[in-house]
Amino acid sequence: MKHPRTMTTSRLYGIRDLRLEQVPVPEAGHGEVLLKIASVGTCGSDVHYYAEGAIGDAVVKEPITMGHEFSAWIAGLGEGVAEEVPELTPGQLVAVEPAIPCGVCEFCEHGHPNLCPDVRFCGTPPIDGVFAEYAVMPAENCFPLPEGFTPDEGALLEPLGVAIHAVDLAHLKPGQTVAVVGAGPIGLLTAAMARVAGAGEVLVTEPLDYRREFALEYCADAVFDPKGQDVVAAIMEATGGRGVDAVFEAAGAPESPEQAARMARPGGKVMVIGIPSDDQMVMSASNVRRKGLTIKLVRRMKHTYPRAIFMVHSGMIDILPVATHHFSLDRIQEAFELVRDYGDGVLRAMIQIGTEAS
Ligand SMILES: [Zn+2]
Ligand SMILES: [Zn+2]
Repeated sequence: MKHPRTMTTSRLYGIRDLRLEQVPVPEAGHGEVLLKIASVGTCGSDVHYYAEGAIGDAVVKEPITMGHEFSAWIAGLGEGVAEEVPELTPGQLVAVEPAIPCGVCEFCEHGHPNLCPDVRFCGTPPIDGVFAEYAVMPAENCFPLPEGFTPDEGALLEPLGVAIHAVDLAHLKPGQTVAVVGAGPIGLLTAAMARVAGAGEVLVTEPLDYRREFALEYCADAVFDPKGQDVVAAIMEATGGRGVDAVFEAAGAPESPEQAARMARPGGKVMVIGIPSDDQMVMSASNVRRKGLTIKLVRRMKHTYPRAIFMVHSGMIDILPVATHHFSLDRIQEAFELVRDYGDGVLRAMIQIGTEAS
C-alpha cells in the first residue's frame, strides 16, 4: 500500500495550546504495523493534559501528540508480521490497545500488564499518541474488527475496556445493587457494563442535567443530582438504609470518593476510576474501616479487547450513543474546548482523522 511521506500531527505545547505540524510518516519496524488512524476519542485524561498540563507526576514537558482511544486501518506491515501475525492484512480496520507493557517484569508475567512499571502508553508523556494521520504500533496490539464495526465503535472499545476492567474488579453477583458516581463516558459505560454483568438496580449520581437525562435513557434505573440533594442520603433511602453492594467512582471530583464510600453497604466494594485534578483522594477512615469496605483502584485495563469486541458485535452493549460529537483533525482544539467546558451535551467527542482505508 502506498502512503505519503509526511503527515499532519497535533502537538500539545502547553496548557490549551494545541498546534498542527507536518512530520515524517513513521516506519514500521520488525513486528510492527503502520496504522492509518481512523477515529480517536478525546479522553478525560487527554483533557487533564490539555487543561492542566499534567496528571499527577506525569507532566507535559516537551510538546506531545496526545490520543490513545483509537481505531485504524492497517497501512503497512513491518518485517516478520505477515508470518507471525497472519490475521493482520493491509486495509483491515482494527481496534488498537494503546498500552505497550514490557512483557518480562514480575507484574507482566503474573498477568497484570496494566500494572507494568515500564509500560509505554500512547499519548502519555513522553510517548506520542495518535491524534495524527499515521502511527506505528506492535502487531499484537491490533485487534481486527468484524464486518459492520464502525471506526467510532473501534475507538470506544478502549474506554469500554476500562469499564469492563472496573466491573471485573467488583466481582459482581447477579442481582447486586450498583451505584455509579459520575455519568461521563466512563461512568456511563461502567453502569451499562455492570448491567451486562448481572447487576440488579443501577443508581447514578451526576451534577450535569444533560448527563443525568442521558444516563436515565441509556442505563440507569434512577439518577440523583448532587447539586440539588444529598446523594448519599438519597441512595441510602433508595436501598432501604442498606447501601449498595458495589460503587464505581467515575467523577474524579474532590468529594466523590467520600460519597462513594458512604453509599456502600457494610462489607461492600468501592472501585475508584476517576482522576482527581489535585492528585488527592480523600475518604474518611472511620466510615471505610467500620464498614470493612474493599476499595480498589482501577488502573486502565487488561485483556479486555476480545471480550469487548464480542459484546459489542453481539449487541450485548451499545456503545455508539456515547460518541456525541465529531471533529476533523484540524479542529481538534475546538473539540477539546467543547469537552473541557461540557458544552452542547457532549460525552465523547471523536476526532475523525482518516475516512477510508487508503
Ligand atoms: Zn482513555
Ligand atoms: Zn512489565
